[in-house]
Amino acid sequence: MLSTSDRIEHDVVFAGAGHANMLALRMLAMSPPPQTCLTLVSPQSEAAYSGMVPGYLAGRYARKDICINLPAFCAKLGIRFVQGHITGLDSKAKQILMENQPAIGYDILSLNLGAAGASTPEGNNLICAKPVHNFMNKIEYLIEKIDNHIESKIDVVGGGAAGVEIAMALKERGGVHAEVSLFHRSGILKELGQRAAKHAEAALRRAGINIISAQWQAQRPDRITIMAAGYHPQNILVDQELQNKFPIRSDLKLQGHDDIFVVGDMAYFKPSPLPKSGVYAVRSAPILAANIRASLLGGQSKPFRPQKDFLRLVSLGTKNALASKYGVTVSAPIIWKWKHHVDQSFMRRFHDIPIMTNNKAQPDHQILCTGCAGKISGGVLQHVFGSDFAPEDAMKLGKRSVASIDGMRSFLSDEYVMASIATRHALGDILVSGAKPEHILISLALPAANDQILARRLKRSLTAVQIEAKKYGASISGGHSLEAQDWLISLAIIGRSSPQPIPKQIPDGPVSIIQTDPVGVGAMMAAHMQGHLDAVQYDELMRHLLRPLPDINKLQKSFSILAATDLTGFGVAGHLLEMFQYQAKDFSWANIALPHLPGAEDIARIFPSSLLQANQAYGALLPAHPKDQSLLRFDPQTCGGFLIATRPKNAPALLAKLGNMGHHHAKVIAHRA
Ligand SMILES: Cc1cc2nc3c(=O)[nH]c(=O)nc-3n(C[C@H](O)[C@H](O)[C@H](O)COP(=O)(O)OP(=O)(O)OC[C@H]3O[C@@H](n4cnc5c(N)ncnc54)[C@H](O)[C@@H]3O)c2cc1C
Repeated sequence: MLSTSDRIEHDVVFAGAGHANMLALRMLAMSPPPQTCLTLVSPQSEAAYSGMVPGYLAGRYARKDICINLPAFCAKLGIRFVQGHITGLDSKAKQILMENQPAIGYDILSLNLGAAGASTPEGNNLICAKPVHNFMNKIEYLIEKIDNHIESKIDVVGGGAAGVEIAMALKERGGVHAEVSLFHRSGILKELGQRAAKHAEAALRRAGINIISAQWQAQRPDRITIMAAGYHPQNILVDQELQNKFPIRSDLKLQGHDDIFVVGDMAYFKPSPLPKSGVYAVRSAPILAANIRASLLGGQSKPFRPQKDFLRLVSLGTKNALASKYGVTVSAPIIWKWKHHVDQSFMRRFHDIPIMTNNKAQPDHQILCTGCAGKISGGVLQHVFGSDFAPEDAMKLGKRSVASIDGMRSFLSDEYVMASIATRHALGDILVSGAKPEHILISLALPAANDQILARRLKRSLTAVQIEAKKYGASISGGHSLEAQDWLISLAIIGRSSPQPIPKQIPDGPVSIIQTDPVGVGAMMAAHMQGHLDAVQYDELMRHLLRPLPDINKLQKSFSILAATDLTGFGVAGHLLEMFQYQAKDFSWANIALPHLPGAEDIARIFPSSLLQANQAYGALLPAHPKDQSLLRFDPQTCGGFLIATRPKNAPALLAKLGNMGHHHAKVIAHRA
């Protein structure tokens, strides 16, 4: 039973997945303040740990070793994850402004956006070391070149720790195939003192790196330049004015704003600014967590007292490193091992985390899937409605209208993306029959919260439905809303029927069945909900869920479509059976694997959807599949694309057309002789 004490009373938003934010977020999520929703906003689904980037460049670490998988981290700790780019801040309305999506409201905000890229225009041959995620993506091209032993000439600009580490790492990886030069204007590791500079210079020379003591002027021909010098501040709109200096007080709050914290490189510490270093960002995290807690619960804020000096570990390739503090410098292979140990311990805090959400299932229990995989099984529906239960997806309403209804619980914590997906999914029922959606009625349940937070969630959810509806020519006509335990949406859609409606049931005669889009959503969502989807797979899944649905009206103009259905919770097998009215006579599978999302076969073996067994029973009439060892034919789909029946002679041209329309995975998956 819900009570007022279940209501969310505070929105704490962490803007940017910088080191300070990530550590403080982890601390708060492991011991959550009551009635508080923690949100992380990041444009990327992974955050790289800069201290390990040189080891990655040298080939010692894989990308996943040095990156925090943000959706998985958030799924495990019950943190709301919003993927998007922050463009500004409206401190009066208490919201951060986002690119291509509605603003995100906050009660407390922690800004940790790091540095911006240098103003020098980037290209394949000029790469900035910051922002780190940008650097990681751009440098792939160079790494590939080096790994293929293609001669590479590299200029690294900047004699600080980042420049030295990058130069040493790339030289180590490239060996004789990489000619590396390091430009410095006023000394190597100047900030660490003379001894450190001597050690680093000797190591650079031993490695065969050209040290050029001169101001870098312009790009040299045939060279890849890496800019690792200076700090370029973030420019964001604050109350409609571009700002790049964020002066903070000792309690890490932005001057003049009790509800905004600023941490990491973008903070301008008063009275004197701190060097831009991950160490200060990391050290400020416990103070940030404590002060956010104090702001929520009442209590004394703690001051951040940055150390005058701290131990600096600078890697010199992956076999040597130097340690420096109070002017004392030591350089030895053991220091690299020590740094490796320190870095590994840091990453373990993000890789090895227990599941803290309500989803925490007992070892012998399975988490129930949501989305369309949360529907009641076909077997139960047959039991109640009769064994020939196979309704049309959209029901006729008089002569000119059709109606359908669909609903789902959320499997993503961002209500905006979830509402977009649910709307596309619901529109599929109407679109697949060739009808045109016109009106949408919504029933929306939001997690219990105070009025202000409900308004924020309602606005983001409704905006998403509105945008999706508009794309397909429909609009919201009304609805109903309520407070509940979970986010849940139902959409009733009324449309204008097609003069030539496409039925769901296949007429007699030979047919080929085309699956327009890849499957595997059910298993991948099951893996995501337990924090086991890697960041690349997560991005791929999001792209899939938010892609345009097949335009069946366009297809119908050139091809005879005998029948079609949208692919939803009962999976490929269940929906095929419905199309064939539970007659498997003369049915055969095509001798190919079902088109599926990358990695879905392996994931489906480990993380089957909770609807899988019921779908297997529901689709049992069909013969065994020659290639589908992972049972993806029973995997429930959300936004699953369509199954289209056509005469076999039409199938190749129809596939080609689908390919032209962006459905590159479309394949004939089954036949009836
Ligand atoms: C190669 C290299 C090696 C380094 N090694 C070390 C080291 O060993 N030790 C050390 O102390 N320091 C090191 N540094 C410096 C260190 O990286 C930074 O000082 C540190 O990362 C500061 O972190 P931050 O938390 O301010 O921001 P970052 O770690 O840069 O994080 C910023 C975050 O904000 C996000 N973001 C940015 N813009 C937006 C936006 N508009 N909307 C939403 N999100 C946004 C980014 O995606 C990112 O997740 C190194 C730097 C480099 C380049």
